[in-house]
Amino acid sequence: MNLQKSADAFAEAKKFMPGGVNSPVRSFSSVNSNPPFISHGFGSHIFDIDGNSYVDYVLSWGPLILGHAHPKIVDALKNAVERGTSYGAPTELETQLAKLVRKIYPSMEVMRMVNSGTEATMSALRVARGYTGREKIIKFVGCYHGHSDSLLVKTGSGAATFGEPSSPGVTRGTAQDTITLPYNDLNAVENIFSQCGEEIAAVIVEPVAGNMGLVLPKENFLRGLRDVTKKFGALLIFDEVMCGFRVSLGGAQEKYQITPDLTCLGKIVGGGLPCAVYGGREDIMRNVSPDGRIYQAGTLSGNPLAMTAGIETLKILLEDNLTEKISAKTSKLVDGIKSAAKSANVTIQTPQAGSMFGIFFSANEVTNFDESAAANQEMFKKFFASMLEQGIYLAPSQFETLFMSAAHTDEDIAKTIDAAKKALSFEL
Ligand SMILES: *Cc1c(COP(=O)(O)O)cnc(C)c1O
Repeated sequence: MNLQKSADAFAEAKKFMPGGVNSPVRSFSSVNSNPPFISHGFGSHIFDIDGNSYVDYVLSWGPLILGHAHPKIVDALKNAVERGTSYGAPTELETQLAKLVRKIYPSMEVMRMVNSGTEATMSALRVARGYTGREKIIKFVGCYHGHSDSLLVKTGSGAATFGEPSSPGVTRGTAQDTITLPYNDLNAVENIFSQCGEEIAAVIVEPVAGNMGLVLPKENFLRGLRDVTKKFGALLIFDEVMCGFRVSLGGAQEKYQITPDLTCLGKIVGGGLPCAVYGGREDIMRNVSPDGRIYQAGTLSGNPLAMTAGIETLKILLEDNLTEKISAKTSKLVDGIKSAAKSANVTIQTPQAGSMFGIFFSANEVTNFDESAAANQEMFKKFFASMLEQGIYLAPSQFETLFMSAAHTDEDIAKTIDAAKKALSFEL
């Protein structure tokens, strides 16, 4: 595969941006290679400037559940852009999207639109602290909730890939208010609450974790978090920025039948444009300015183009009942990869939750960050390189999750399984 033009473009980009990118994992440095530079995407495929095409399982890191350039979204956006790109004034579009979100996530009685998942989780924490009058929060090692200071402690994915469990520039004072515990360890949570439960404002969790590779919650972990937070008057925040609309249309809260106090959505909710949402119990959310005193604002929040793409995406998901169909496709692919591994005599773990899936080169089930980090990353790198060479675009790190879209065809899946057979024989 020729990637000369991409290599040249990368060299040029590096002169102007750290690592040549605007988000670290895109640089491919975790797999010791150079990223293809993308010229366009259509359906299940992306195309690079060297003329190569790839079946895409990254999908802009999750948002594109309908695939690239879905005709209905493109039409809606063309229509919207001709009316202007932003007003900084209320529109009916915001209420339309809010109605759809509340229909699918009934626990989000009142909500606020923002521009990124980072903003959603950062703001939800401020609301939790403002509402409870407490300062400490609990997060889990390997869960990523965006890059705000309070949450940039023992994250997964990008930061894990780069071997920085937290980041320089986060003050000790801030980090001290963040208690980090192992994912799926309910005992550890209960212990901390029995020591200082009255100081804890909130527990924030990826109810299905996708930023240390895909890690599913153990039976009763989420239920236990709900019970202990309620008992001590702390809020439970579900960060469903990634797993929302994927593990089930109504997210992990629907699948596991647990009602959090606050929820963060992002990625899919903006249909491929910058948009995220936080919201929850009305008595809590009414404390947000201007109804209440907890301040949070945004010049481009509720942007009409982002609202339009989000509304179209959610409508299509609802009307065509796509969640189940995309999950079934995911199972088909995962089954194919599993049997490819079996014939190649390679032991892998292939967790799946709806339209999310992952691959760990590990003999044991992965239930937390340490177990994820213990998987064989050298094998992952070789596997990744071989898949890319065969036109299959996977996330360039085992700490990331892979995604299926409505646009992927049976042919795409068959091609991917064939490629996996070759890649897993490690002969290329
Ligand atoms: C992607 C992600 C975020 C951050 O969203 P950005 O839009 O990248 O700021 C937060 N939480 C989870 C669970 C995510 O997967």
